[in-house]
Amino acid sequence: MDPAITWLDSQQAAMEKLLIDWASINTGTYHLAGVQRLADEVDRSFEEIAGSVLRLPLSPHHEINASGEAVEMPVGDALVISRRAESPLQAVLAIHLDTVYPVDSPFQTVTCTDEQIAGPGVADAKGGLVVLLYALLAFERYVEASGDTRLGWRVILNSDEEIGSPCSAELFGRYAAGADFGMVYEPSLPNGDLVGERGGSGNFSIIARGRSAHAGREFDQGRNAVVAAAEVARQLHALNGRWPGATFNVARIDGGSPYNVVPDVAVVRLNIRYPRPELETEISAALAKICGAAGDGITLQQEGQFSAPPKLLSLPQEALLQQFQQCGQSLGIGLEWQRSGGVCDGNRLAALGVPNVDTLGVRGGNIHSTGEYMWRASLAERAKLSASFLITKSRAGN
Ligand SMILES: [Zn+2]
Repeated sequence: MDPAITWLDSQQAAMEKLLIDWASINTGTYHLAGVQRLADEVDRSFEEIAGSVLRLPLSPHHEINASGEAVEMPVGDALVISRRAESPLQAVLAIHLDTVYPVDSPFQTVTCTDEQIAGPGVADAKGGLVVLLYALLAFERYVEASGDTRLGWRVILNSDEEIGSPCSAELFGRYAAGADFGMVYEPSLPNGDLVGERGGSGNFSIIARGRSAHAGREFDQGRNAVVAAAEVARQLHALNGRWPGATFNVARIDGGSPYNVVPDVAVVRLNIRYPRPELETEISAALAKICGAAGDGITLQQEGQFSAPPKLLSLPQEALLQQFQQCGQSLGIGLEWQRSGGVCDGNRLAALGVPNVDTLGVRGGNIHSTGEYMWRASLAERAKLSASFLITKSRAGN
């Protein structure tokens, strides 16, 4: 085994310490001070291996509030760190700095047992962030010792993944397109399996506007937006079953008014999951039809988009998974892959034509809940897997 890989075993304690430090910083997507602090720390930790570092402000996230108005929600910076951009083979590695836990979440503290570390983001995705860093530290030891410079890399760290990467999607287009392969550090499945293919996702808001009126004095003059929204919700829900594998989740209806007022605005929140990219056109037409059929005195306005196209198990995708499987075998790690309905930045890389494995982070579970945990041993284990893969690719030169 390459000495750069065995070196990682000696780094287990350092990796654990770093994970505990990073998970102790609250980086809820909209907690800018926390995200910026983590970006500073991560920037510093890459210092010894980075060729260039870009710190990029992202444009704010456009949201529709409960009154149907567009509001701007600022998010933290992204980091793009590169080395050997001139090498013939280029890898792009990515993971997010943000977590789902807002600054006022009750889940803020990291706790350790003999085998596990529990805390906000320990698996999703700060464990992966540590794995990514140490895999590259090990890989650069290999480069230093061997003089093999055939593989260059670029790391993209965004800060809005947990809200669907609306502000960093363009960043992937600019800095990831053209890479030969991608490595994304979302947690593996709890049993250590990887995700092979993923469905697509889109979030939409449909704003129903009517006419406000006093419920007692001039009820007939009013046009009830809540009732219109409810009708839209019913029609959206009825789309379930029309396309096999596609789901329509009416997640929320915002809006309303005091008891004595006919409400003039309500917003229906919808998440769509779909298995094949070509369904976007048909589904869009169905949404347009629903929004075009508003009742008298009601307008329906659709906002939102399909933000993560389905990631299919293409031939290059499968070949990459097999190469990881082989690296795993040489390290005594059995790796299989499964389909997932969840989306991540692996979807966005695949849409750019970059085949990628997107579950290279730690083994862990209960993500997005106050029970989130990770298996300590998976830090060195998964860093060795990634480092071994990078060394194999660099040696092969393709
Ligand atoms: Zn994640």
